[in-house]
Amino acid sequence: MDRLAIVVPCYNEEEALSFSITELKRILKELHGKGKISPDSFLLLVDDGSKDRTWEIIAASNKEDKQVFGLKLAGNVGHQYALTAGLMEAGKLADMIISIDADLQDDTAVIELMIDMYHEGKDIVYGVRNDRKKDSFFKRTTAQGFYKVMDVMGVKTVYNHADFRLMSKRAVEHFSKFGESNLFIRGIVPLIGYETDCVYYERKERVAGESKYPLKKMLALAWNGITSFSVKPISFILGMGLFIIFLCVLAAVYAFASYLMGRTVAGWTSLILSIWFLGGLQLISIGLIGQYIGKIYTEVKHRPRYNIEVLLTDEEGKIAD
Ligand code: UDP
Ligand code: MG
Repeated sequence: MDRLAIVVPCYNEEEALSFSITELKRILKELHGKGKISPDSFLLLVDDGSKDRTWEIIAASNKEDKQVFGLKLAGNVGHQYALTAGLMEAGKLADMIISIDADLQDDTAVIELMIDMYHEGKDIVYGVRNDRKKDSFFKRTTAQGFYKVMDVMGVKTVYNHADFRLMSKRAVEHFSKFGESNLFIRGIVPLIGYETDCVYYERKERVAGESKYPLKKMLALAWNGITSFSVKPISFILGMGLFIIFLCVLAAVYAFASYLMGRTVAGWTSLILSIWFLGGLQLISIGLIGQYIGKIYTEVKHRPRYNIEVLLTDEEGKIAD
């Protein structure tokens, strides 16, 4: 029987946590009862340097119930890092790992579906919100705008999927090879490969407490998502430079014609052409340098270049020549 870990990043979640722990423990029990997970499956609550009683609650639950594990980070490192810490630790122990927020906005009812898909051989199952009615108008529009921008930038993400997902042990192992500091987990997971699937659910309201993602953190995450996965903005500069040089040619024709017709003031033709030409040249130069910087950026991330899923060899374990 496969062991499940549910990883929950928690930052100042004292109001929501007790409820969430009870609910998630109930789910573990139910799933075990149905024979879908092993009895030693567990919750891993990651305290991301909370300033309230979050850790006390986690420690007390751990004492009370051996299915509740706790991980305390020294200081607040943010949701993405806290989640990564949880995934890494849980990945050492469990066969499948589900990540979910402490406020239970994501529907716990689909956890069972995720596990069914895991048993069908899926390595990654994305939780996708098909309804954002419960989100505020502002959160909804900014979030949807974000997915659109990511798409334009050529970053592969799953639309309307946040960090509620199931990953198999081997998927987490490959994820651990991404050593980048500017972490945007949602962008990395689709790069892992393997077979994936989605479950759909309606996003609910927070069970208690307030959002720990103010606009500033949301923008920082979005910015990270774009700049960690796309060097397209650099290509835009180069494109713009080329476009301006093209305009410069048109302007040259116009200016020269005006000059021949004697409709110009002395000095205007050379001045206007220099402005366009130098402007274009500068943008092209910046864009070119940017192309190299973009390459350096991709290199320093040292991302894994591939993920081997199966290797077929002959009987002696050698690859046939
Ligand atoms: N969180 C965290 N560290 C932070 C901020 C948030 O671990 O610095 C956790 C938080 O406790 C919650 C999850 O990340 O479990 C998502 O946060 P929240 O629900 O506040 O975000 P929202 O749903 O409003 O986008
Ligand atoms: Mg939330």
